[in-house]
Amino acid sequence: MSTIPARYPVMFIGHGSPMNIIADNKFSSDMVRLRQRLPDPEAILVVSAHWLTRGTRVTAGSDPEQIYDFYGFPKALYDFVYKAPGSPEVAEKICEAAGSGLIVPDSQRGIDHAAWAVLKHIWPEQKIPVLELSLDIAREPRYHFETGQKMAKLREMNILVIGSGNIVHNLHEVDFNENADPYPWAVDFDNVVKKLLEAKEFESLINYTGLGKNAMRSVPTAEHYLPMLYTLGMISDDEEISFVHESIQNGSVSMRSFISD
Ligand code: ZN
Repeated sequence: MSTIPARYPVMFIGHGSPMNIIADNKFSSDMVRLRQRLPDPEAILVVSAHWLTRGTRVTAGSDPEQIYDFYGFPKALYDFVYKAPGSPEVAEKICEAAGSGLIVPDSQRGIDHAAWAVLKHIWPEQKIPVLELSLDIAREPRYHFETGQKMAKLREMNILVIGSGNIVHNLHEVDFNENADPYPWAVDFDNVVKKLLEAKEFESLINYTGLGKNAMRSVPTAEHYLPMLYTLGMISDDEEISFVHESIQNGSVSMRSFISD
């Protein structure tokens, strides 16, 4: 696909274990396939589950460092290089789109694996500028949805925004076997979210703490769930949600990923 769409699709990708960086599995092959339906955007902005700040920041350096923000994994993961350029100009566009000083540029911060672990499968060439948006973890879920709404106009500037986290993410109960049987509570909550996404019942997804005890067990901390709310905030009324991957890895990590369609 080569034509630039009037409105670039917006996505949420489950990134899961860093082992997916070097894995050859259903997730990696679905990410490679996803590329086939996308033209090259001008830049990619990843809302990162791994950058938690006070206030909302965007990376604004022209040559951001690749951050290896995981510990105790095989050497091959630390040897893997994904070194895309940054773009101070695009950072400025993002700050302007959100308006009123909501997003602050940060020229020092690099790019963590919430971005590059996913992008290495979709755009292995490392040519398109990559930026990250932080999560102001002190804010309520609605703030994250509304910040997404404010950034929706980036889609008309040929900028791809990816929420990168996981719908179900309980590391306390994680199984180190990628193909371990999923916990029933993880399957249940992943399905509840799937149905709410299909029905575009975003209010229920913003108020996920009201979705029962399986929600609490699936989202024990908010940082991997919140990037999805940016994606939802950027989806228009006339669009549907299309799933590009669904699985549960390591028993307690949903890799469910979707795109606006
Ligand atoms: Zn993560």
